[in-house]
Amino acid sequence: MLKRLWENGESGAGLYKMVAGAVLPVFLLLAIPLLVALFVQFDYIQDMERVSDERLTLYESTLKLELNKYSYLPFLIAHNGLVRKFLTEGGDSGAVNRFLEEANHKAGSRAVYILNPQGVVLCASNWRQDKNFIGLDLYFRPYFKDGMKGREGKFYGVGITVGKPGYYMSYPVVVEDEIVGVAVTKIDLSQLQTIWQEGGENLFVADANGVIILSSRPSWKYRTLTPLSAETLQTIHERGQYPEPKLHWLEARPSSIGLMDMVTIDREHFLQTSRHIAGTDWEMSYLMGVRVLWERTLGSVLTSFVLVGLAILMRMFLKEREQKQESRRQAKEARKIRAINTKLAQEIEERKRTERELRAAQDELIEAGKLAAVGEMATAVGHELNQPLAALKMYVASCRLMLSRNKLDELDPTLVKVSGIGDRMARVTGQLKSFARKSMDQDSEFDLRLAIDDAMTLMLHQFEVENCLVRLTLPGGRIPVRGDCGRFEQVLINLFRNALDAMQDEEDKRLEISANQQGNFALLYVQDTGEGIDPEVSDRLFEPFVTTKTKGVGLGLGLSISYKIIKDMGGSIRAENRKRGGARFLLWLPLHISREQMEGEDANG
Ligand code: ADP
Repeated sequence: MLKRLWENGESGAGLYKMVAGAVLPVFLLLAIPLLVALFVQFDYIQDMERVSDERLTLYESTLKLELNKYSYLPFLIAHNGLVRKFLTEGGDSGAVNRFLEEANHKAGSRAVYILNPQGVVLCASNWRQDKNFIGLDLYFRPYFKDGMKGREGKFYGVGITVGKPGYYMSYPVVVEDEIVGVAVTKIDLSQLQTIWQEGGENLFVADANGVIILSSRPSWKYRTLTPLSAETLQTIHERGQYPEPKLHWLEARPSSIGLMDMVTIDREHFLQTSRHIAGTDWEMSYLMGVRVLWERTLGSVLTSFVLVGLAILMRMFLKEREQKQESRRQAKEARKIRAINTKLAQEIEERKRTERELRAAQDELIEAGKLAAVGEMATAVGHELNQPLAALKMYVASCRLMLSRNKLDELDPTLVKVSGIGDRMARVTGQLKSFARKSMDQDSEFDLRLAIDDAMTLMLHQFEVENCLVRLTLPGGRIPVRGDCGRFEQVLINLFRNALDAMQDEEDKRLEISANQQGNFALLYVQDTGEGIDPEVSDRLFEPFVTTKTKGVGLGLGLSISYKIIKDMGGSIRAENRKRGGARFLLWLPLHISREQMEGEDANG
């Protein structure tokens, strides 16, 4: 089918339409859900980032609050007279221990203790406990070293005795410009983790080395964000900061799907938002699970897919319905056109039939016209024959008289006259016969002069009765015209009759008939001095039943029949009014050219 379609250009456009029609819905079905997915992701990621940011702010402030809550404590202890005295002069450590115990209790910190310049714990708030800090050598701890350098120390790490993690803050005890010891406060941040965990959050705090020191997920604690170098591990070891076997890489790998930059931990994907915590070298990270995002995206994609699919199906359904309606309409139109065509065919057939009938009727009318003329002629013939008959009677009577008187020598000339009269009568009846014959032979020829002569003879009586002068101007010799003489005579009789009618009320009645040859035609003029052609009918003169004569007198057929006869002969007829009054009929009649003439012309040509 494809091949066939490509074979012609028009169908190529059809194929293009078909492909476009199939591709577009598929494209929309894929593109719209994709766009929706992108939009939903973009929107939801913005939401997630906003929420993450808010949460981070919240958790950062609680952490800072927790850290700052105790920052004054080492300072106060370092400035306490009892502590200072003990560190400079020595004496009863019990009083100092009790003071530290009380201070720790009041502040709510985990432990408070003082170190001598060698890093050994001299007094501690937990002096009553079995595993107390007294006597511990903490020289390696950075907060001690910071204190001994005369500055505040801050440090996160696990404890030496029971391994409990805590945040250590230190302050140097300076007496007369000499650092005589270091005051230390240890605070516990583990309750923060519990709160985060209970809140279902994914949150961790990592130190400068990327070691997670606080986390809502216990399993992530002391894991590292990047694999630690041997050097770093050594430093941690020296400080006794963290339980070293746990310091494995968390394998938090950055990844990105769609519009989102994510981090993947243990095959779980999170959106990570991190923030540096001022006053520390820590970084807090808030992790938001992307599961909800995927669920939302998938939900929106599926919903939009279904909706677009439904819309496409709906459109297809409507289009098909429209096409069905269109084809029904076209079928209806086609039926209508078929019906019109059938009606048209019937009408054409009807017209043809009518035409055939009209033709037949016209032929009949020609005959009828002839009969009418014959009727007229009967009078003329009657008149024409009456006179010779009377003459005949007279001559016969004279002959009988001559016989009785035995004047035989006078008999012959009289009989010659009788014979002449007989000839004339025979001619009249002969013409009548030829006129009445229904002539079909149209290829025959006749002498125009004779035809005019015969028609004149038939009408002679009328001309005489109506006192009409006839002038005939014809060239000498035969004028051979193609056609049937009898039918043509009928035309002439019609024209003569009409001329007589038109001149009925005129004083001066003259009928002029003239003919000459023009090329292959004989041009015949028939003109009268009558009333002329009525302008009312001049346009339709040759149409049937057009007449200005009183009803019954004129049928309006004469000229239409004449027109047909002339047409059949291959000629033409035209009528006009003469300038000096009267009508003129001009007839072009094709000349009959004999075979010899034609050959002669060819030879000359
Ligand atoms: P009819 O003679 O029965 O009226 P025709 O067809 O012979 O039918 O003539 C049609 C009409 O043409 C006439 O009624 C007449 O008005 C006009 N007509 C024909 N010949 C002449 C003429 N020689 N002069 C003036 N009018 C004429």
